[in-house]
Amino acid sequence: MNRLDNNSRLQYLEALGIDVWVPRTSANVAGYPTFDIAATRDFTFPTPDASKTSSSDWAELETEVAGCTQCDLCQTRTHTVFGTGSKTADWMVIGEAPGQTEDEQGKPFVGKAGQLLTEMLRAVGLERDEVFITNILKCRPPANRDPKPDEAESCSGYLRRQRELIKPKIILAVGRISAQTLLKTDAPIGKLRGKVHDLDGTPLVVVYHPAYLLRSLLEKRKAWQDLQLAIRTINQNKG
Ligand code: URA
Repeated sequence: MNRLDNNSRLQYLEALGIDVWVPRTSANVAGYPTFDIAATRDFTFPTPDASKTSSSDWAELETEVAGCTQCDLCQTRTHTVFGTGSKTADWMVIGEAPGQTEDEQGKPFVGKAGQLLTEMLRAVGLERDEVFITNILKCRPPANRDPKPDEAESCSGYLRRQRELIKPKIILAVGRISAQTLLKTDAPIGKLRGKVHDLDGTPLVVVYHPAYLLRSLLEKRKAWQDLQLAIRTINQNKG
């Protein structure tokens, strides 16, 4: 059992800029909408299934990514960014591509946007080390430009193998590029979010990119709704 206590959760929600509706008490204004936050968190974290991933397959894949020269990004990167977190995670979080800080540290989502992503995950009771966080691209595109289709294509085998090894119960596609690349569509993110997609049998929920949320505070509520959708989906699938 690994639950955040309600106070911590409320603090994270506040950091996200999300209004928290609390269960109605005599102190609440009559008729004000109520929202029981505890009801969104009725899942427990499963015991990791050690048989899920063979460590030799995983190590082999990590070594391949570290030495990858399949596209020109290998010439400008400082580090490849394989991904971090649990190899037996139920949640796989897939962003776009490493930025400058990620390129320097070799870890995904460790810059400003990453800090918000960490808060978003915590808001639903997930610590970074119990999910697996990675990107469509394992190398930083210069000046943070969008990934080119051929770069995403070169990297797609790595992500597919990561998905096959981890076997997540849910995928969170973070941002437009991730969602469009994974779902092979050019539909706008506003049309892709808010529903559950199927990626080769794994449910996939799209959430706005934290870098966008840092600029568009009003959209944080939608991100919160999408995280709740992801939680409901994983709970339903646990039966
Ligand atoms: N943005 C992403 O999409 N991924 C990262 O790792 C960092 C920023």
